[in-house]
Order: sequence, then structure tokens, then C-alpha cells
Amino acid sequence: MARNIGAACRRCRREGLKLYLKGDRCYSDKCSYERRAFGPGQHGQARFKKLSNYAIQLREKQKVKSMYGMLESQFRLYFQKADLQKGVTGENLIILLERRLDNVVFRSGFAASRSQARQQVRHKHILVNGKKVDIPSYLISDGDIVTLKEKSRANTAINENLEAVARRGVPTWLELDKDNYKATVKALPNREEMTMPIQEQLIVELYSK
Ligand code: SF4
Repeated sequence: MARNIGAACRRCRREGLKLYLKGDRCYSDKCSYERRAFGPGQHGQARFKKLSNYAIQLREKQKVKSMYGMLESQFRLYFQKADLQKGVTGENLIILLERRLDNVVFRSGFAASRSQARQQVRHKHILVNGKKVDIPSYLISDGDIVTLKEKSRANTAINENLEAVARRGVPTWLELDKDNYKATVKALPNREEMTMPIQEQLIVELYSK
């Protein structure tokens, strides 16, 4: 499957904020953004340039794409789906992205990053309502129960991730039962519960041109 293999830290520096793409490293003093909080490349430290409206909208879209590890074609499909739903398109978009199984695995703390979560799903470590699901884009529903496969519970890295999850916290729409390697979707996420610095309206404006 196609994926974005560009340098993760470079993307944080390009967008001017920490996107938490590399797990534990993001919380350590090895974080590139903490050490060099300016744009990447030869002109990264050039003086601030006023961005056009289009550039601002484009950067917002690129930022969200990077956060969720999407390619343009996939991201556009999510937008189209969000646009067909009732309600506010931008909010629908963010909620759809949050409902992805790889995101739920990351948010619950089984994985240190969304890319690691994607790998866990693809490698069949994850069950949804007791059944193996190896599709990272699978959309979870209200009441779903996401668990770690019995055989994978001895995995040291996963256990370390679960210990470290307190650092970033589990969102209110999920309930983590660490002892039983289980996350329950208490309710579908709503926009107010999401604290990420995203201005989804800019993405709607970009795609609506
Ligand atoms: Fe971004 Fe820092 Fe994580 Fe690199 S280590 S992906 S710069 S947050």
C-alpha cells in the first residue's frame, strides 16, 4: 500500500508544530522540532513571509494529512465522504479520521504513533468485537470493543506503550482497560472533545474552490 515516506520530523518543522509522528522520540529532548523550531531546508530560517489565503489553506490540509499519515488521494476521498454526510463538512472530516482503527489503536495507547498502530493492525494484532481486523482504515462505531490479540499481550513494546499512555492521555470518548488490553468506544467522538490545533474550515475552503 502506498504511504508517505518523507522524513517525519521535517514535516513537523514545515508545519511549524509538533505532529507527534515518531512515538517516544516526540516526548524526548531528541525531538527535532524542540531543537530546531524553524522550517527545514536552506531557507528554513529565512524571515517570516506573509502567506496567501491559498497557502494557508494548503498548509492546513498538509498538516492534517501528515498527522493522520494520509496520501492526497485517500484524504480527498475522506473529504468527499464527509461532504456527503449531514452536518458540518469540516467536523465530519475530522470525526471520520478519528474513527479510523489505526487512530483508535494509537489513541488508546497500544501504539506510540499512528504509523506503529497501522503496522499493528496490518500484522493482525488487533481485534474488533473479538474478530481480527487488519484494515487500518476500518471505521469503528459506537460501542465497539478494540482488544489486543491474546498472543500479542506479552509484546514488550506494546506494554511499554500502554505504560506511557498517561503522558498524552486517552480521549474521553474511549475507555481503556489496561489490564485486559481493551479499549471501548463509549461514543463516537465529537468535535468539542478534540483538542488538536486543526482549523478544518480552511480545508473545506481549499477543496471547495
Ligand atoms: Fe515531530 Fe518531534 Fe516527533 Fe520528530 S520527534 S515527529 S519533530 S514531534
